[in-house]
Amino acid sequence: MSKSNKIIDAARAIRSELETILGDRDTAQKIDRELNDLLNVPDPTLNLKQIKQLLNSNQKTKGWVKQKLSSSTKSLGYQGLPGMPSTRLQTQKYHCSEKGCDFVWSRRNLAQAIPKCPHHNVTLIAFEDDSPSSEAEL
Ligand SMILES: [Zn+2]
Repeated sequence: MSKSNKIIDAARAIRSELETILGDRDTAQKIDRELNDLLNVPDPTLNLKQIKQLLNSNQKTKGWVKQKLSSSTKSLGYQGLPGMPSTRLQTQKYHCSEKGCDFVWSRRNLAQAIPKCPHHNVTLIAFEDDSPSSEAEL
């Protein structure tokens, strides 16, 4: 899964929500038609730029997509839209804030409390992990 595909996924997902999000049937139908043209091709990632432009052209759709994308990556507090439960939790990594300390801890379950660094007794802080060995979205 690339970042691009997440945009495509969001663009697909937003179609059924457009009228609710926009509160305007005509605009919703217009955007839906444009999305339909852009998505229903053999490789929609080729239309990625236009899809982004279309979604960003309206503050409401822009905000929805932004929220959608952040909810599928790292927002731990967001539980997804009703009827669309989050299916997975991305492993969140934490490290010690002390300089030079290399203690790293992975959180795999929301029920896990964030521990303290065993060397410095400071609460670990979250960080972005984009190492290829991670099972995070690649
Ligand atoms: Zn430490």
